[in-house]
Amino acid sequence: MSIIYNFNPGPAILPQSVLLKVKKNLLNWNNSNFSILEVSHRSKIFIEKTMQIEKTFRNILNIPENYNILFCHGGARGQFSAIPLNFIKKFIKPDYINSGYWSLSAAEEAKKYCRPNIINVRKLTKNKKICIQSTKYWKISSKNTYLHYCPNETIEGIEIFEEPEFYNKIVVGDFSSTILSRKIDIKKYGIIYACAQKNIGPAGITVVIIRNNLLFNLNNKIPSILNYNLLMQSKSMLNTPSIFSWYVSGLVFKWIKNLGGLNIIEKINKKKAKILYKYLDSTDFYNNYISSPNQSRMNVTFHLQEKNLTNMFLEQSEKYGLFGLKGHSILGGIRASIYNAMPIQGVKSLIKFMKFFEKKFG
Ligand code: PMP
Repeated sequence: MSIIYNFNPGPAILPQSVLLKVKKNLLNWNNSNFSILEVSHRSKIFIEKTMQIEKTFRNILNIPENYNILFCHGGARGQFSAIPLNFIKKFIKPDYINSGYWSLSAAEEAKKYCRPNIINVRKLTKNKKICIQSTKYWKISSKNTYLHYCPNETIEGIEIFEEPEFYNKIVVGDFSSTILSRKIDIKKYGIIYACAQKNIGPAGITVVIIRNNLLFNLNNKIPSILNYNLLMQSKSMLNTPSIFSWYVSGLVFKWIKNLGGLNIIEKINKKKAKILYKYLDSTDFYNNYISSPNQSRMNVTFHLQEKNLTNMFLEQSEKYGLFGLKGHSILGGIRASIYNAMPIQGVKSLIKFMKFFEKKFG
């Protein structure tokens, strides 16, 4: 079978070696003669596994001891509700940074429970590219509250590399599509959350990293399944967790660790994004609309100059073994999601195809 590359935005590509391990363990997990899909979440063997998984995750992201790690249900959207609901007793008017579709969606959801102060940080450069204001220009409120932002807008392909440093704010980050792609300084955040289906593992689990001191005096009159305190006390087992997703995520964390951790991963990701953007910059046949300091390393978006060639591009790219390149329906065009598991060879194949297509139709 010829090699195919999966550029889907999520559920997304997983490391081949992880998939092979899953296959091997599917019928007989750890020589137990039963499948990982059949394991009880209350069994000693699974509880020990979750402890190991948490340890590896803490280690690769360098998460300090005064942070709890929760493995939740509900995806990132579940967190759009969980955050305002847990904090509603303390903060009525939190700050929400609007940098694109997902950050605005979080703010819209929060409107059901509080009165978000929505701060627009998107600007256009002289040559009409989208850029994000430096955090020092963000017009945040003077109130002691939390500030929500999304460091990587998966749909538009906009990434904010600058880490917000606001000492009177609890910084909350939706890291769904950038977590584990680069090092971050956890201490700057109160809460980091991420759905699994990009750099973590299969859909079904949502990771929340929360500073311990935020777990006091929360609103308790909310659905138990969103209650951070209960989730922490039950070690993320208030109800039956998605054991499969949790287990595969653990294999992905180990894969990252064995590769050399986030230092190496970040280096590879920089290289992959660099060659693709370099090619995009060199041609008028394809256009990327994001200014270079905010070009996402995970989701590279572009349009064909001749928009009516887009469908043909997508059809032919599949014949070339390149899948999942269709842009999100609100933007159209092309989106290449090049998460951690995408090998550099996949990006090179994409560039090769783009050159071929340009030559044929340009
Ligand atoms: N935030 C971001 C940045 C995302 O990319 C996504 C999913 N693409 C979501 C939130 C929503 O995630 P979920 O489908 O797990 O609710």
